[in-house]
Amino acid sequence: MTIPFLDLKRQYLAHQQELDAAMRDVVESTAFIGGEKVAQFEMAFAKAIGVKHCIGVGNGTDAIYISLKMLGIGPGDEVIVPCNSWIATSETITQAGAKVVFADVEADHFTIDPADIERKITSRTKAIIPVHFHGNVADMRAITAICQRHGLLLIEDCAQAHFAQHNGKNVGTFGQAATFSFYPGKNLGAFGDGGAVVTNDDALAKNMLRFARHGALNKYDHTIEGINSRLDAIQAAVLSIKLRHIQDWTESRRHNAALYGQWLSDVPQVKLPVERTGGSHVYHLYVIRCLEDRDGLKTYLLAKGIDSMLHYPVMLPLLDAYGHLGHSSSDFPMAFAHQQQILSLPMFPELREDEVRTICSAIREFYKT
Ligand SMILES: *Cc1c(COP(=O)(O)O)cnc(C)c1O
Repeated sequence: MTIPFLDLKRQYLAHQQELDAAMRDVVESTAFIGGEKVAQFEMAFAKAIGVKHCIGVGNGTDAIYISLKMLGIGPGDEVIVPCNSWIATSETITQAGAKVVFADVEADHFTIDPADIERKITSRTKAIIPVHFHGNVADMRAITAICQRHGLLLIEDCAQAHFAQHNGKNVGTFGQAATFSFYPGKNLGAFGDGGAVVTNDDALAKNMLRFARHGALNKYDHTIEGINSRLDAIQAAVLSIKLRHIQDWTESRRHNAALYGQWLSDVPQVKLPVERTGGSHVYHLYVIRCLEDRDGLKTYLLAKGIDSMLHYPVMLPLLDAYGHLGHSSSDFPMAFAHQQQILSLPMFPELREDEVRTICSAIREFYKT
């Protein structure tokens, strides 16, 4: 591949010495689970996001499950989620014993549509999980208002949107709890699996920590049954180093997005991603909509050595896993329209200007602009 979709090696090589040293520290101390490195990262991340508590957990999926369980969501409850997301957002609701209710997404922003949330609310609705999808913030002004009006819990799925903002506030600070993934390909990525839950609620923080540690805040004092979900020390050490660079990396992503915008804005067959007004998009993914022959473009780019992807090729309600809900594409017209059009172009902080130019030239050639 001449231009990869994502090249994690460039970031590693640019910071190899400090990353290697941080990992070596952990190995030499043999404090692999818990300990100082984990506590340091949790504190630094909470401070950077602007919340009181951060609890490192095994991955971003566990983070959602732990939040749901400790917010008391279970059998008889309904939780509303966007119909276009990674399946972690919805499968954890089922695992908690509650019912998944899908809502359509907004045309330009790809995030959950507040108007469709309103239509999906019933007497059993307990919570909403908006996803800051592709790194673009969901409409938190409208969603927090809906939650207040109907007395609903709010859990933000921030897996794709570390340090995205809405009206000057970081995502992760709007609801009772918020969840992050540190999967290697995420904007803040570990060298393996990792995740976190954050909250300003002291009691909830304690309960989430206890649940993620086999139900015991102190060794052998199991007041409940829990699960085993931990951020390990090597991941925490890597993440602490990377946290120092995340603002620069976000700026680079935004710069690359601006270049795409500049060089593709006059291609009539391409609709560019739209940053929410008052929001700051962190471009985990750069997803264009092809109004003509998306699959042809993808093949054309591939022949030129340019990788691209689909996020996600089939919306959640149409997957076999949700066949029992009996949905059809007409239940989610906007997401279904997107499904035929979306194409994720290469996007990462180290992607070079000449590479973005090459990608844009190829797209222009294909559409004969
Ligand atoms: C990646 C992701 C998750 C889950 O994260 P893992 O760390 O892979 O478990 C959850 N929600 C969304 C939207 C994601 O993109």
